[in-house]
Amino acid sequence: MFRKILAFLLLSVLVVLPLLPVSAEEAASSGAWICLSCGSSVSGGACPYCGTVRGVWSCSACGVRNLAGACTGCGKLREDSLKEQASCGNLLLAFPAVRFLAEQGDGASLCSLAGYYEKGLLLPQDWDSALGCYAKACRAGYAPAYLLLGKAYDRGEAVSRDEYAAMEYFQKAAELGIPEASWYLGTFYEEGVIVEKDSVKAMELYRQAAEAGDADSWMSLAACCAFGKGMERDLSAALSYYEKAVESGSHLACDYLGYLYMSGEMVQQDTEKGLAYYRKAAEMGNTRSMVALGYAYLSGQGVDPDPAMAAHWYEQAALAGRADAAEALERLGR
Ligand SMILES: [Zn+2]
Ligand SMILES: [Zn+2]
Repeated sequence: MFRKILAFLLLSVLVVLPLLPVSAEEAASSGAWICLSCGSSVSGGACPYCGTVRGVWSCSACGVRNLAGACTGCGKLREDSLKEQASCGNLLLAFPAVRFLAEQGDGASLCSLAGYYEKGLLLPQDWDSALGCYAKACRAGYAPAYLLLGKAYDRGEAVSRDEYAAMEYFQKAAELGIPEASWYLGTFYEEGVIVEKDSVKAMELYRQAAEAGDADSWMSLAACCAFGKGMERDLSAALSYYEKAVESGSHLACDYLGYLYMSGEMVQQDTEKGLAYYRKAAEMGNTRSMVALGYAYLSGQGVDPDPAMAAHWYEQAALAGRADAAEALERLGR
């Protein structure tokens, strides 16, 4: 009788096993692997999509294809090469390394992989998988994942909007030393979202984030001073905070200072200073400043009219994706 029961149990296990869903980790341990050329999850000895053999990787420094842990061309370690590839900025090129490192539990790569799922880039769009990646990155102790989860719940695209969850994640990220998270908490207090409106507390959080290196938080502080939120209106303090934002690398603050000096709003009009801020912001990649420079050279605002310079700045802005600049260029007949 006992042998009959055992045989029955064994048979049911064998029947049920293939029907169970296989998680990525289980797949990895059962022989599935991530192709380091195309990023596909495959099984067997060679990738059926691109033919790359299991374990082969291309060196990010010299391009040599390798199987060993260090590059035969230049000695670079495989882990270093993969990390470099994963953060190279070219989403297509980075994908195989991102997927491989994410599978190994690397927090930064898990967050990148979540981004691919969110956008439906190279993988089917899948919010649940994206959130799963963020959660894994949190469990791996990767602090920025808490910020990203907070943003997801704050935006309410991937999940239904949940300010309470968002605040909890922002708080955790702030505790773990992510300055931008303090800025988000500041906006909750400034706007009175799920907490009582408290401009003083908001200012405190903005200052904390700004001093920890979040450039745009200087802008929020400046705006509080300029519009008298949580304090007396103080234009000179506002200007000094905008300056600090520029020093910390905020092109938005630089562009805004350009606008203030060009228009004479809040300050004595000074087109020379305004144009200098616009130039600096444009160099930092601010497209609004590029368009403003184009317009200044076209209309002779603070400079002698110079259609060639106007075209130059409109072209820079158009190349950076500004449709209004492309139209202005067309009107200029370029
Ligand atoms: Zn492949
Ligand atoms: Zn190499």
